Amino acid sequence: MKDNEPFGGLSIDFGGDGAASGAATPIAIAPDAAATATGGPATVASGEGRVDTKLLIIGSGPAGLTAAIYAARASLEPVVLAGSTPGGQLMLTSDVENYPGFPDGIQGPDLMAAMRAQAERFGSTLIDVDIDRVDLSERPFRVWARGTEYRAQSVIVATGASALWLGLDSETRLRGRGVSACATCDGFFFRDREIAVVGGGDTAFEEATYLTRFATKVHLLHRRDTFRASKIMIDRAYAHPKIEIHPNMAVDEVLGDAKVDGLKLRDTVTGETSRMPIEGVFIAIGYVPNTAAFRDWLDVDSKGYLVVRDETGSNIEGVFIAGDVHDHRYRQAVTAAGDGCKAAIDAERWLEAQGITEAATATAW
Ligand code: NDP
Repeated sequence: MKDNEPFGGLSIDFGGDGAASGAATPIAIAPDAAATATGGPATVASGEGRVDTKLLIIGSGPAGLTAAIYAARASLEPVVLAGSTPGGQLMLTSDVENYPGFPDGIQGPDLMAAMRAQAERFGSTLIDVDIDRVDLSERPFRVWARGTEYRAQSVIVATGASALWLGLDSETRLRGRGVSACATCDGFFFRDREIAVVGGGDTAFEEATYLTRFATKVHLLHRRDTFRASKIMIDRAYAHPKIEIHPNMAVDEVLGDAKVDGLKLRDTVTGETSRMPIEGVFIAIGYVPNTAAFRDWLDVDSKGYLVVRDETGSNIEGVFIAGDVHDHRYRQAVTAAGDGCKAAIDAERWLEAQGITEAATATAW
C-alpha cells in the first residue's frame, strides 16, 4: 500500500458517481454463457445494462469486503455493490487500535483501503454505487443500481448500520477530533480527560460506564428527565462516582477549533444556556440499520435489524446476511469481518449444493 496517498492510492469514489472504481475494475465481458452454468464464468456483463453473477455482495464495510475476499478466493468472482460512500463506518474513524494484526494501530480509512485491495486482488469487482431497488422474489435475485440490473444466484447483504448524529455543523467538523460515536473504538484516547456522553438509552449508559475506565469524569447529557435505558444501568450510573447525570440538557454546539474543548448546552426546561468545558463527546443516541431496500423481502426484528437464521442465512434461501445490519450487540469491525467470512463460506456451500458451482472450489479459503 502506498503510505503517502490517501486510502493507499486506491481510487475510492466519494463523489458517488462511481466513476473511479468503475473505471478501475470493469467487469470482464464473457461470451453469452450464463453465470448460472456450472463451471461457467461466475460473472458476466451481458449486453447493455445487465450483469449476471453467481454472488452479489451488497455493502463494503468489513463484513462485505471480508465476504468478497473469501468468495473471490473460492473463484466466485463476486460483484460488490460498495455504496456511494464505500468502506462503511470505519471511514469515519481515525485510529483503530483493536483490530488484530496492527500493534501500532491503523487509520480506519487505511484499513478499509487494504481490505478493498485484498478483495480486488483475488478477483472481486467493486462498484461504488448505492442500490435503488431489489427483487428477491425468485432466482436469479435482481438488484438495480444506477441504471444497471444485477442478476445474482446468491446475495450477501452487508449494508451495515449508521450511527445517528445530532446534526450539528460543529459536530461534523470535529468528528474524529474529540467527537465520536463509538466508546469501544475511541475511549482509550480520553485517558485522564473530562468528557461527555449524549443520550438517554442503554447505549448512552453503557458507554458512559465504559468510559469511566479512562476519563476522570463523564457527564451524561439527556434531553429529557426520563430515560429509555434499563433501570439497572441507570442506578449503576447514578451510583458511580465518576458519572454525573444532567437531565433536561441539550447540546446546541460542540466547541473547539482543531479539537473539542467544550459544549454549549441548553436546559430544555428553562431555556438557560451554559458552557461545559470537556475534551471529548460521545454521541450515543442510537443506530439505524441500513435495511430500507430489503424490508419487503427479509425479516426484521423489533429494532429494525435483519433476522439471521442458522448463522448467516435469512428467510430466503440463497440470501445471506453479515455484519452490523443484523448485529446490534457487538458492532465491531472484527466481528463484522468474521461474519462476512462465515456468510461467504455459507453462500459458496449453498451454491455448490444447488449445482450452481462445481464442488472443490471451496478448498482455497
Ligand atoms: P435508544 O433509541 O434506546 O435511545 C436513544 C436515546 O437517544 C434516547 O434517550 C433519545 O432521547 C436520545 N436521542 C435520540 N435522538 C436524539 C437527538 N437528536 N438529540 C438528543 N437525544 C436524542 O437507542 P440505544 O442505542 O440506546 O439502544 C438501542 C437498543 O439497543 C435498545 O433497545 C437498547 O435496549 C439496546 N441496547 C442494549 C444494550 C444492553 O442490553 N447492554 C446496550 C445498548 C443498547 P429520547 O428518550 O428523548 O427519545
